[in-house]
Amino acid sequence: MIQLADYEQIVGPQVLEELKILSKSLNGRKVLHVNSTAVGGGVAEILSRMVPLLNELGVETRWEVVKGGEAFYAVTKKIHNALHGNEDGLSEQEYQTFLDVQEENIKTMKFGEDIVFIHDPQPIGLIKLRKKLGNKWIWRCHVDVSKPNPGVWNFLKTFVEQYDKSVFSAPQFSQKLSIPQALICPSIDPLSEKNREMTKEEINSIMRRLKIPLDKPLVTQVSRFDRLKDPVGVIKAFKKVQKYSEARLLLVGGTADDDPEGTEVLLETKEAAGNDPDIIILSLPPTSHIEINAIQRVSTIILQKSLKEGFGLTITEALWKGKPVIAGAVGGIPLQVTHKYSGILTHSIDGTAYWLKQLLQDPAFAKKLGENGRAHVRQNFLLTRHIRDYLLLFLSLYHTEEDLINL
Ligand code: UDP
Repeated sequence: MIQLADYEQIVGPQVLEELKILSKSLNGRKVLHVNSTAVGGGVAEILSRMVPLLNELGVETRWEVVKGGEAFYAVTKKIHNALHGNEDGLSEQEYQTFLDVQEENIKTMKFGEDIVFIHDPQPIGLIKLRKKLGNKWIWRCHVDVSKPNPGVWNFLKTFVEQYDKSVFSAPQFSQKLSIPQALICPSIDPLSEKNREMTKEEINSIMRRLKIPLDKPLVTQVSRFDRLKDPVGVIKAFKKVQKYSEARLLLVGGTADDDPEGTEVLLETKEAAGNDPDIIILSLPPTSHIEINAIQRVSTIILQKSLKEGFGLTITEALWKGKPVIAGAVGGIPLQVTHKYSGILTHSIDGTAYWLKQLLQDPAFAKKLGENGRAHVRQNFLLTRHIRDYLLLFLSLYHTEEDLINL
């Protein structure tokens, strides 16, 4: 089992010492995290690694997942898309479905911890309990809310403003709110199965098992099959490059329990690929961490052609592996990628195709981008930094009048 001490080789002893001091200052306060899926997507990825470490630090932490049926997830996906700017609003019936599920979860779950940490809109209505329980509540928004659908945002805002604090991933997501807002970027765990070092033999054996040929440079996008990740745009860009460079495109995805659109988008993606032998579409179960790790490591270039993106952990994962990344210049992505320094930022299919061709033809430049990206991730986006920010956030809940907290 991975333990806190194992991180010393990567981040040094001081970082760990600081985490211990901050944890102690919380004086035994307990934390509950709530989100809407146990596997699939960035939030589950982070919590699965963060919760054990917080417990090891002595901050007793639980993680619960709200329960909702198909109709609820259809509504929350609509909310998700609306937060990303989709103009479709919700009907009265849909709002009611959303509220009913909040009530059902209130009845079956326990929220007795000192700090309740709610992730994203799906469980946002649980805040109703705050008055009765008198504990502290944080709402953590992981999505790109730079230009939300105003009707849906105003509905959610009535809940958000009942929280003690809110957290966003990028400065441009900040909203006009009556409660304090914190800016905290997500992170990856360098020791998890998704990111740990791998031997060549390990990688090759996984490639054989997955039947991924390695005779041509591999260009890969790892993402849920979601229109906002633009898998069809990736295929269009790749097709433009095929006549200039020999390469193979790999689209790896899966579905998340709380994402009902995945199957439909997977079909659209297969259709766009046609029967091109150089385009591989791979649907993997959401627990395929070591497989994704191997795929990222064996890839020549990683794409993340998102049209909207809260942060994009797939980019962090690729940069940590020293890979050159070409990504959409949206949401939290520019916090990770500085154009032509630690990766490439693009705005269109043509732009993606242009840079794909360039990087395939200039491996030395591509390598430099990957190296710079890895250094940036080491400084800013590892799990230890994320835990420190959350511990500071927790402490700030109990020091609301002070600018400086003396530990
Ligand atoms: N992921 C995965 N399998 C897949 C697709 C994605 O394990 O088929 C992981 C990916 O490695 C990353 C997370 O899911 O850790 C996706 O996080 P990101 O922030 O990129 O996007 P989100 O899905 O949260 O919008």
